[in-house]
Amino acid sequence: MAVFRKIGILTSGGDAPGMNACVKAVVNKALSMGIEVVGIIGGYAGLIKGELMPLTHNSVNNIVGMGGTFLYSSRCPEFMTEEGMQTAVETCKKNQIDALVCIGGDGTFRGATDMTFHGIPSIGLPGTIDNDVTATDYTIGLDTSINTTVQIIDNLRDTCESHARLNVVEVMGRGCGQIALYAAIASGAVAVAIPEVPFDEAAAIEKIRKLRNNGKRSMIVVVSEGVFNPDGTPYSETLAKKIAKETGVETKFMRTAHVVRGGKPTMRDRTTATQMAVKAVELLVEGKSNVVMCELDGEIVALDIAFALILDRMYKNKLKPGDLDKFTPEQIEEMKTLSAKRTAELQRLYKVATDVSF
Ligand code: ADP
Repeated sequence: MAVFRKIGILTSGGDAPGMNACVKAVVNKALSMGIEVVGIIGGYAGLIKGELMPLTHNSVNNIVGMGGTFLYSSRCPEFMTEEGMQTAVETCKKNQIDALVCIGGDGTFRGATDMTFHGIPSIGLPGTIDNDVTATDYTIGLDTSINTTVQIIDNLRDTCESHARLNVVEVMGRGCGQIALYAAIASGAVAVAIPEVPFDEAAAIEKIRKLRNNGKRSMIVVVSEGVFNPDGTPYSETLAKKIAKETGVETKFMRTAHVVRGGKPTMRDRTTATQMAVKAVELLVEGKSNVVMCELDGEIVALDIAFALILDRMYKNKLKPGDLDKFTPEQIEEMKTLSAKRTAELQRLYKVATDVSF
C-alpha cells in the first residue's frame, strides 16, 4: 500500500470528450480516500511551468458532462528533453505531488512512463477519440465523436436526398479506421475507405453508377482522414472529384475535422471514463504504476505501459529489432492474441459496413 498525500492529474495531447469525467472521478475518489488532488494546467507544459490548481469536490462540480478539458491540453516537446523532464520532476517534488494520473494517448503514456522512472509513479488513462490504443477495446471519446459524426452525416443525407447528390465525408481517425467504419455503418454509406484496408476505387465508382441507375438519389461515401494519395495529400477530396467526373452524379465534399472532438460526452464516455478513473486511483494507492487503464471484454483492467506501446507496434507491423526482448514468451503470446483480436474486429466491422452498403 503506497501512502500518497497528493496526486496530480493532467490531460495531454488531443482532447477528447469524457476527459472531464475522468478528472471529476479521480478528484472525488482520491478525496474520499483522504488524498489531495492538484490539477496540472495544459498537460506536461503545466508541469514544467508549475501551473497548478488545487482541486476540491466543488472545483469539479458539473464537469462530468462538459466537452473539452477544463484542465486544458497541449503538446509539449520540451517535456521530451532531459532538462524538461527534470523540471517537471522538480515541480512534483516542490509541491509534494507523489503520483500522477495522465489522460491522453500514446505520447501521453510515454510521458507517464518517463515520470515513473524519474520517481513519480504515474498511471495513464486512454483519452482519445480515434480508438487507436491497441491495448484497449475502447478509448474515452470514441462514442461521442462517432455520434457527432453520424449526426453531421444525417444532416448531409437530408439535403443529398432533396437534391439527388452524393456527399463524400472525410472523418477523423489518422491511423485507425474505426470512426469511419462505425460512421459508415450507422449512416448507411455506400462505400468506406480506411487506412488499414486497400480501397477498391474502381469497384466503388461502378457501384455508385449502378445505384444511381437503379434510382438511388442520396449517397454517402465515408473516407478516413488517414487515407492519403501517393503524394501525401488527402485522398478524400481526390475521390470526390473522381466520383463526380466518372459517374456524373453531383458530388459534394465535406471534412468533419475538429468539430467531432468537441461536444458533450455521451453516457458511454462518461461512464467508461469514471470507471477507469476510479480504478486508476485504487491501483495507485495499492502501489501500482506505469500502467494504462484498458477495457477488455467489458472489464476494466490495467496493462503495463511498455507492454501497451510495443503491442501497438506489433499491431501496426512496426516492431523494431529487440522490441520484444524484455518480454516473457507468455507476454509475447498475449500481445499476438490482442493484435489478432484487433485485426479480426476491424475486418469484421469492414465486412459489415460493405455488406450493408446499398
Ligand atoms: P497523444 O497523447 O494524444 O498521443 P502526443 O503524441 O502529442 O499526443 O503526446 C502528448 C505529449 O506527451 C507530448 O506533447 C509530450 O509532451 C509527451 N510525449 C510524447 N511522446 C513522448 C515521449 N516519447 N517521451 C516523453 N514524453 C512524450
